[in-house]
Amino acid sequence: MSGKQIVIAGCGAAGMAAAIAAAEQGARVTVIEKNEKAGKKIYITGKGRCNLTNAAGRDSFLEKIVTNPRFFYSAFSGFNNQDMMGFMEKSGFPVKIERGNRVFPVSDHASDVTRALTLRMQKLGVRVLLETEAVRPEITDGRIAGLLIRGRKDKEEREIPADALILATGGLSYPSTGSTGDGFRMAREAGHRVTELLPALVPLETEEDTSPMMGLSLKNVEVRMLDGKKEVYRGFGEMLFTHFGVSGPLILSASSFAAKRLRKHSLRLSIDLKPALTEEELDARILRDFDGEKNRDFANSLGHLLPAALIPEIVRRSNIPADRKVNAVTRAERRNLAALMKHVTYTVRASRGFGEAIITQGGVNCREINPSTMESKLVRGLYFAGEMIDLDAETGGFNLQIAWSTGHLAGMSAAAPEE
Ligand SMILES: Cc1cc2nc3c(=O)[nH]c(=O)nc-3n(C[C@H](O)[C@H](O)[C@H](O)COP(=O)(O)OP(=O)(O)OC[C@H]3O[C@@H](n4cnc5c(N)ncnc54)[C@H](O)[C@@H]3O)c2cc1C
Repeated sequence: MSGKQIVIAGCGAAGMAAAIAAAEQGARVTVIEKNEKAGKKIYITGKGRCNLTNAAGRDSFLEKIVTNPRFFYSAFSGFNNQDMMGFMEKSGFPVKIERGNRVFPVSDHASDVTRALTLRMQKLGVRVLLETEAVRPEITDGRIAGLLIRGRKDKEEREIPADALILATGGLSYPSTGSTGDGFRMAREAGHRVTELLPALVPLETEEDTSPMMGLSLKNVEVRMLDGKKEVYRGFGEMLFTHFGVSGPLILSASSFAAKRLRKHSLRLSIDLKPALTEEELDARILRDFDGEKNRDFANSLGHLLPAALIPEIVRRSNIPADRKVNAVTRAERRNLAALMKHVTYTVRASRGFGEAIITQGGVNCREINPSTMESKLVRGLYFAGEMIDLDAETGGFNLQIAWSTGHLAGMSAAAPEE
C-alpha cells in the first residue's frame, strides 16, 4: 500500500480511471473537478448510450488509433477493452456488443458508466472536490509539490500538497462539458510542448451547396478523401448531408485524416454510390432500367437506383436534360452517368469547429511523456491522461478506451512507491 497523496485535475473518463487505479494501490486520492458533477461529457457520448469501448482484438483495435499508436501500446496492455468490459460487469452494469464491435451498457444509458465509476471511487474513499478549478501545478526543484485550486463560487484559492499530480482535463471539443483546454496551459507552464490542436471526428464544410440534400443519409457507400492525387482516407458505410456540407460516421472518420491538411488547402471528397458494382455492371443496370421504361423522362427514371433527394443533383451533374426521354439518352451519356455515380465529388474547404468536434487532435507531445508510466519526462511526479495527450482514434469506442487505459496507467504509476 503506497499511502501517497495523489491529486487529479479533471473528473472525466480519464480522471476517474486514474483515481480508481491509484486508490486501489492504497494512495490517498483527491480529484478536482470544475463542473457541478463528475463525468459530464460521458452523459452525451454515443448519443446518450455511451459507446464505452470496442471489443475488437488487440491488433484491429490498435489499427484504429490515428495518432501515435505505438505510444499507446503499454497503456492498452495494462488495462485493455476486455478489462473495461469486465469492470462494468463486476460493477453490476452489464454490457452488450453491437455492430462494428461497439460496446454499450445493456441499459442503453450512458449514466451507467458514470455510476459504475463514481460508485467505485466512493467505495475506495476517493475525495472529489466539485465546482473547484485546478489553476496551477506547484513545482519545486523539478518535481510536483502540489496544485493551486480555486473554488468556483467563493473564488478562494488554496494549495493542496501532492506527491503526484495527474492532469486529465480533456481537450477543447464540446467546451460546454468543461473541456476548455486548461490542462494545455498548465502543461505549457510546466515546460511541455503542445502539438497543434485541431477539431477531429467533426463534420466537414463543402464549397458546393448541399442544402437541397440536407438530412439525406446514404448507407453502404464508399467515400475517399483525396489530397491532390494522394488518397488520405477510404471507408465504407454511412454518411449524411447537412446544410453546410457532410457528416455521419464515414465523414467523421475521414475528418481525422483531413484535419491538418485542411488548415492549408481544400481536399476532394469522392463518393461511390454503388460500391458493390463496377462501372460496367452499373451501366448494364442503368440500361436495364431504361429499357423497362423507354418513354420516361430521364429525371424520372432513376428512382430504382438513387434516393429521391439525390436525383436532382445527379441529373444536374450528368448534363443530360431532365426531360430527355430515356430512349434518347446516348450510350456515351449513359456511361458518363455510371461513372458519375461511382465518383460524386465535392470540394471540402474546412472542418467545423471544436463546438461540434467529438475529439481534439493534438495535445501534450508524446515524446515528453514516458509511455510505460504516463509520467512527464520533464517534471517528476507530473502525469498525463486522456484526451489532453497527443493521441486520438477513429469512432467506435476507441477514444474512451484511450481515456480508460492512459488514466489507469497514470494512476497505477503515480501511486507506485518511488525507487
Ligand atoms: C458528443 C460526443 C460524443 C462522444 N461519444 C463517444 C463515444 O461514444 N465513444 C467514445 O469512445 N468516445 C466518445 N467521445 C469522446 C470521449 O467523450 C472523449 O474522448 C473522452 O471523454 C475524453 O476523456 P477525458 O477524461 O480525457 O476528458 P473529458 O471527458 O473531457 O474530461 C475532462 C474533465 O476535466 C474537467 N476540467 C477541465 N479543466 C479543468 C480545471 N481547470 N479544473 C478542474 N477540472 C477541469 C472537465 O470539466 C471535465 O470533466 C464523444 C465525445 C463527444 C463530444
